[in-house]
Amino acid sequence: MAKKYRIGVIEGDGIGPEIVSATLHILNHLPLDLEYIKIEAGYTYYKKSGRGIEEDFIDKVKELDAILKGPLYTPPGAIEFKSVNVLIRRELDLYANIRPFKSYRGISLRNFNIVIVRENLEDVYVGIEGEYNRTAIALRIISERETERVAEYAFKYAEDHGFKKVTVVHKANILKISDGLFRDVFFRVAKRYPNIVADEIIVDTAAYTIVKNPEKIQVLVTPNLYGDILADLLAGMVGSLGLCGSAQIGESIGVFEPVHGVAFDIAGKGIANPIGEILSAKMMLEYLGHKHGDQRLILYAKKIDEAINIVIEEKKLLTPDLGGSFKTMDIANTIIDIIKSS
Ligand code: NAD
Repeated sequence: MAKKYRIGVIEGDGIGPEIVSATLHILNHLPLDLEYIKIEAGYTYYKKSGRGIEEDFIDKVKELDAILKGPLYTPPGAIEFKSVNVLIRRELDLYANIRPFKSYRGISLRNFNIVIVRENLEDVYVGIEGEYNRTAIALRIISERETERVAEYAFKYAEDHGFKKVTVVHKANILKISDGLFRDVFFRVAKRYPNIVADEIIVDTAAYTIVKNPEKIQVLVTPNLYGDILADLLAGMVGSLGLCGSAQIGESIGVFEPVHGVAFDIAGKGIANPIGEILSAKMMLEYLGHKHGDQRLILYAKKIDEAINIVIEEKKLLTPDLGGSFKTMDIANTIIDIIKSS
């Protein structure tokens, strides 16, 4: 009997509920056994409950196979409200952040298919800073354990998704010890994957190559900060933040969410681009498919991907962020029609 998958759903703030609902609308039209468990979280939830996320969140997660999430708002400077995104990442030990960037004909700046696999827990994001004698310092942590986990995931991802090359991004010419360790551990892990080419690139050259010759790059594995910056560069090259999905992977669960934020400026108007959220759901199906050896999920992930390509490249059904006038639900309904007729 086909396995039933239990999906936690965090609608999020701002445009979150609109794009999550459009995405669930698509998933509900697929012949898959998915059960949704709503998880209340975010700033809207905080304002009515005094909590950033449900109290029994960790217990709930133990019963789940994956979490589909909308963006969550973190108000700047409000000390009493801690980022729920950071809490989820740390509590669920989400060590790898996967961001695929694929170009769309007629929309993107160049032709490319690049995946950033970014270390998700360390680097300067440990948030340890200090000041002494008018000199500020920030701690940058790169551990063998986390580097090994993220490098291993990058090679496994490359194998599962048909990529032939994984490239480590570093600045080991300057940061000889910290980035030196990241580089060394990467090449040690690479020996376990003789069928995948292991390469390296200095971070500034990576930025140049992404813009100049993106076709030379396949999977990049990066320390946290470099990955953060290069991902936004790639989102710009794709053509809109609204077109990019992501996954955060832990040992026992994955959390899938768009790359963009809550977009308060367009919230409630029904015009948000849902494709970043839909691509995140597609990544969730792939993740569950590979994890449980369930080819049906991988097949439907592929169908969603193909339908998105048709919507953007052939039908030119574009939301206002891409210069069009279509609405969030127009995109979702057309994707359903394309999948049904495939
Ligand atoms: P943003 O991504 O919310 O918006 C930047 C611009 O892109 C805006 O003009 C917005 O309208 C547009 N945009 C973003 N997503 C879109 C979509 N799907 N369709 C159409 N247009 C879209 O970036 P911001 O303003 O820097 O961030 C706002 C807040 O979002 C931040 O303060 C932060 O709290 C939160 N945030 C959350 C996450 C997350 O939960 N993962 C990530 C980033 C930011």
